[in-house]
Amino acid sequence: MKKIQMVDLKGQYNKIKSQVNNSINEVLESSAFINGPLVKDFQLNLEKYLGVKHVIPCANGTDALQIAMMGLGLKPGDEVITVDFTFASTVEVIALLGLKPVLIDVCPNLYTMNVDLIENAITPKTRAIVPVHLFGHCANMEVIMQIASKHNLFVIEDCAQSMGADYIYSDGRSVKSGAIGHVSATSFFPSKNLGCYGDGGAIFTNDDDLAHSLRGIVNHGMYKRYHHDVVGVNSRLDSIQAAVLNAKLPFLDSYNRARQIAATKYNEKLGGIESLKLPVKRCGVSNSNNEVFCHVFHQYTVRLIDNDRDSLVSYLNSKDIPCGVYYPIPLHRQKAYKIYDYNESDFPITNQISKEVFSLPMHTELDDDQIDYITKAVIEFLG
Ligand SMILES: *Cc1c(COP(=O)(O)O)cnc(C)c1O
Repeated sequence: MKKIQMVDLKGQYNKIKSQVNNSINEVLESSAFINGPLVKDFQLNLEKYLGVKHVIPCANGTDALQIAMMGLGLKPGDEVITVDFTFASTVEVIALLGLKPVLIDVCPNLYTMNVDLIENAITPKTRAIVPVHLFGHCANMEVIMQIASKHNLFVIEDCAQSMGADYIYSDGRSVKSGAIGHVSATSFFPSKNLGCYGDGGAIFTNDDDLAHSLRGIVNHGMYKRYHHDVVGVNSRLDSIQAAVLNAKLPFLDSYNRARQIAATKYNEKLGGIESLKLPVKRCGVSNSNNEVFCHVFHQYTVRLIDNDRDSLVSYLNSKDIPCGVYYPIPLHRQKAYKIYDYNESDFPITNQISKEVFSLPMHTELDDDQIDYITKAVIEFLG
């Protein structure tokens, strides 16, 4: 059996080596390392794939979130509602811009924003809501957009873990994750569903004016060379990363399909065990003309009920099975965010699940032997 890895980037690269190498070579030969033609190519290809009017490439997913908030003109003191259970970037950029991160709890099934808690968190200072499509499944965007429109708020989607996922409306219509909110941010960190070979990110929007504003902000606030109209940042997707992404984008659907197949196998092998709460089973759905991806399994995350999660993780590690815990400490309890004086009792679900969750290896190269071995080890631990 191949050595089990949390993410097998090398195995994936081996299968697309010639496409990636040719694409990178094109950049090397042209020496257009910054803002080369492949950056524009990738932008256009991604706009088409997502069905959004504007993609603004940038340096990483954290910048993408920050720039999205700058583009919306959020000002110090404004409040932004997001979730307690996410990667720190989401909250970090809110704090960095002098905005106030108002954290709410998540749902116990999908681990995304509990939309029933949003309206209570809204104050006259609230300006935006940031849903995170955690682990590859979209938050309840339909309700979030309704609440936002009722209270005149912006919605910023954090799509770092949901590239290629579809959001399915109650009437059956589906839209790519990132194409619904006023603006969206994603990351192309190597281990993400669409990853480059370094850092990368992008912002999406259907709003022409906002897109114009964002294009300036990523480039020192310049709309005309050496005319700095707003305070901006330097956040570029470099041409070599764009070359990698351009070569990989055509494979994104097949990568997400491979993740779903692995998730389905995990579900089959681990189903029916009372102490394991598996991810929702909504894997692939097809409508008449195209495939719909409800869940793109950035992570395959399980909750271990009434048992010792950390011992399970150590047990799996001792059998050479890497295992992640996303995320072990809720953001409301992190030292950096103590100043916001969060209320412990506001986060029963995050507090509970942060003690129970573990994520099994999930990537595009997992094979049946590996899944057998991993699931057997989990079952062995449970005795
Ligand atoms: C990875 C990630 C980010 C940040 O992306 P970087 O490219 O690493 O800056 C933001 N939000 C979530 C939910 C993420 O998983």
